[in-house]
Amino acid sequence: MKLAIVGVGQAGGKILDQLIEYDTTRNTGFVEHAVAVNSARTDLAGLTYVPEADRLLVGQSIVSGHGAGTDPETGKRCVGEDIHEIDDAVGGVATSGIDAFLLIAGLGGGTGSGGGPVIADHLGEIYAEPVYGLGILPSTDEGGIYNRNAANSLQRFARSTDSLLLFDNGAAKSSGETLSEGYREINDEIATRFGNLFSAGEIDAMGGDVAESVVDSSEIINTLGDGGITSIGYATEAIETDEGGLLDRFLGSDDDDLASSGDATNRITSLVRRATLGKLTLPCEPDSAARALLIVSGPPEHLSRKGIDSARDWLETETDCREVRAGDYPLPDEGRVAALVVLSGVTEVPRIEEMQQLAVESDTGPEDDEQDEKDFESLLEYGDDDGSE
Ligand code: GDP
Repeated sequence: MKLAIVGVGQAGGKILDQLIEYDTTRNTGFVEHAVAVNSARTDLAGLTYVPEADRLLVGQSIVSGHGAGTDPETGKRCVGEDIHEIDDAVGGVATSGIDAFLLIAGLGGGTGSGGGPVIADHLGEIYAEPVYGLGILPSTDEGGIYNRNAANSLQRFARSTDSLLLFDNGAAKSSGETLSEGYREINDEIATRFGNLFSAGEIDAMGGDVAESVVDSSEIINTLGDGGITSIGYATEAIETDEGGLLDRFLGSDDDDLASSGDATNRITSLVRRATLGKLTLPCEPDSAARALLIVSGPPEHLSRKGIDSARDWLETETDCREVRAGDYPLPDEGRVAALVVLSGVTEVPRIEEMQQLAVESDTGPEDDEQDEKDFESLLEYGDDDGSE
C-alpha cells in the first residue's frame, strides 16, 4: 500500500530512515512520501535517506533547534507552532495516490510523544485517508519519566489514529554493545516487520508473479481500520537450494505427491504458529484480537495454497476471531519463506496494563484516576476511534 510517512522526533526519524532504506533496496514502492519532523537540529542532520528538503525543524521560537528533552508538553507546543508547515509538507503533496498516513514516534521522549498525536489529529480532521500510528514503547528499565510519558502519549495517540501499531523496545533483544548499535539492530527488526506488511499490498508495482490470493491494501486497511491497538508477529525459514534441502520441504503444492504436499502444508502452519506464539512487536494474548491478517511471503513455488489455508484455519482457532484474512506475497528472489501475522484490536496486553498503572499513579486526584481507568478500558475494548475526549 502507498503511504505518506511522518517520522516525529529522534526515534521516529531514525525508523523512518530505515523504512526508506528497506523500500529503496528492495524496490517495493510503499513509501510514496516521507517527512521527518523534529525540534532538534542535530537529529535531523543525522538522517541518511530522508531528503534534506523533507526534514522539518519545528518550534524554533520555543527551543531554538535544541529539542524538547523529555518533555512532551514542549514537544506538543513545538509541533503545534508549525502544524501548517507540516501539513504543507505532508498532506499538501501526498493525498493523491496514497492509501494512508503513517506517523512514527517514540512515545517515551518529548517531540514524538507530545507532537505525534497533534499531527495525527490534524491529518485526521482534514484528510479522508486513514491515519495510522507506529508507536515505540520504552523498555521498563528506561525509568519512570520515559514510562510515564509513554503511558500518557499512548492514550492520546490511540485516540487520534485509526489504529496504533506498537513496538515494545523492552520485548526486543539486541546483541549490540552500545545503545546506538542496539537501536540499529532493533530498528532493522522494526523495518523488516513493518516493511513486509506495508509492501505486501504493493505487489502490482513489482511486476512479479501475481498469485491467486495476493494481499491487497484494502485487506490491510480492513484489518487495521476499526481502531485500537495492533501487534505483529513474524517468523522466517531459510530455503536451501541444494537437493533434498529445505527447498523440497516447502515445495509440493502443485504436484500430486500427497506426502510432499502434506509436508509443505505442515511447514507453513508451523511457521505461522511460530510467528503468532513467538516474539510479537507487543506481547499480548492472541485470542484477545478482534481481527487478524496472515501474509506468507517468499518465492511463489513455495507458497502452498493448501498450506496457507490450513495455517489460516489454525489462526482462526488460536485467535478465536471470525475476521481472519490470509493471502500470499510472492517474492521470486527471496531466499526464505516468511509468515507475518497482524493481530488487531487486541485487548489483553500486560505491558499496557502496567503503563496504565504508571499513568494513574502519576496523576493527582482520584477523579483523574477514575477517568484514566475508563479511558484505558475504552481504548483496549473498542479502540476509541471517534476522536472524542
Ligand atoms: P524525541 O526526539 O523527543 O521524540 O525523543 P526520542 O525519539 O529520543 O524518544 C525517546 C524514546 O524513544 C526512548 O525512550 C527510547 O525508548 C526510544 N528510542 C530512541 N531512539 C530509538 C531508536 O533508534 N530506536 C528505537 N526502537 N527506539 C528508540
